[in-house]
Amino acid sequence: MPSLWTPEQTAFRDEVRHFLRENLSAGTRQKVRNGLALSRQDHEDWHDALAAKGWYAGFWPKEYGGQGWDAAQTFIFNDEYAYHGAPWVLPYGVNYVGPVIFTYGNAAQKARFLPDIVANKVRFCQGYSEPNAGSDLASLRTRAVKDGDHYIVNGSKLWTSHAHFADWIFCLVRTDTDARPQAGISFLLIDMKTPGIEVQPITTIEGHHHVNAVFFSDVKVPVENLVGEENMGWTYAKFLLGHERMISAETGKTRRHLERAEVLAAERGWRDDPGHRTQMARFNIDLKALEWLTLRLVQTVDQGAPGAEASMLKIRGTELQQRIGEYAFDVLGIEGGAFDIAEPENDETPLSGIARDMLLQKATTIWGGSNEIQRGIVAKHELGLR
Ligand SMILES: Cc1cc2nc3c(=O)[nH]c(=O)nc-3n(C[C@H](O)[C@H](O)[C@H](O)COP(=O)(O)OP(=O)(O)OC[C@H]3O[C@@H](n4cnc5c(N)ncnc54)[C@H](O)[C@@H]3O)c2cc1C
Repeated sequence: MPSLWTPEQTAFRDEVRHFLRENLSAGTRQKVRNGLALSRQDHEDWHDALAAKGWYAGFWPKEYGGQGWDAAQTFIFNDEYAYHGAPWVLPYGVNYVGPVIFTYGNAAQKARFLPDIVANKVRFCQGYSEPNAGSDLASLRTRAVKDGDHYIVNGSKLWTSHAHFADWIFCLVRTDTDARPQAGISFLLIDMKTPGIEVQPITTIEGHHHVNAVFFSDVKVPVENLVGEENMGWTYAKFLLGHERMISAETGKTRRHLERAEVLAAERGWRDDPGHRTQMARFNIDLKALEWLTLRLVQTVDQGAPGAEASMLKIRGTELQQRIGEYAFDVLGIEGGAFDIAEPENDETPLSGIARDMLLQKATTIWGGSNEIQRGIVAKHELGLR
């Protein structure tokens, strides 16, 4: 069968593998493989290694400090690092707000933020969701009122991942209460050190602290931190969400989890069980189809903003992750319950990773816009509705 990849792409994949062997610490890799919590330092070390190589924002245009990777290179890089157990590249700066700033930001914002994002000198988090404004994001109520050369921000954000690691939060805020909901939203960059911001941790089902509630009380934000035009934030928000969903298929991680399930099943003596073999064949076929779909769709959106394609990837990728995770958990049987949810940092058995990953994966069909909402987007696209 002819190879899907050109010699240059194969050489690039080898280069990524070599880099991972040389730069990813055994301790961090083990934590990722066992589903343990990563510290801020673990993330920093990995991001710093990528930044030093110039690969932290490899897909960005060269003029902004990226490598100008095309869709195939970006796919290869994401696939390889996740497969080999490198930490998730926290996407809020590189994948989310960075492209918004270089597409819609002004020259001062580009100069101020883009070099620091590429060099891993600044960390962002994403302030979109609120209580009662998740799927129905346009009903958000966090208010920003202009007062001279500042906005005064009041309200709260919910499920804000890694806000406790962040220097800045990019926020959707309501700047016009009279316009229809989508038309009164603006996109603000807010320094997390500004007085009036409080971050409260939330522990998720697998026992880790990733997400938070963030409260704003009379937070003063300079008007120069408004991205694009006032009341046009919905356009930038949707552009960003497309980028978020394009990286949600996570084929490399899913392949690693599938191999882990296979090893576990072999240890349990299931290798030749016809039911198990059928299940594994189905997973492998679905994963291969997802890899090809990802590559094809990533190429179609190479030049523009992702739309319904991104929703398709999110649905297929997250549901496959969940099916494989739940199957591995079934293979574990009674041992699945034998992990310490109270003290996840001290629980280093590989089997704990299976249970914890399975639990965390419950969130994948919710975050970035639930899969029900994604199905609505795909249906509207196919039916030609607006
Ligand atoms: C672990 C985790 C991390 C997250 N990180 C972030 C983050 O960093 N920043 C951020 O801003 N947000 C974040 N989120 C929030 C996430 O985007 C929202 O949870 C998601 O958009 C769903 O909103 P909701 O939780 O308010 O649920 P709701 O909107 O209340 O939905 C509840 C249920 O109703 C269904 N539903 C709602 N409307 C419709 C409809 N029109 N058609 C069909 N079904 C519908 C949904 O699919 C869902 O099953 C995170 C969430 C999780 C779980």
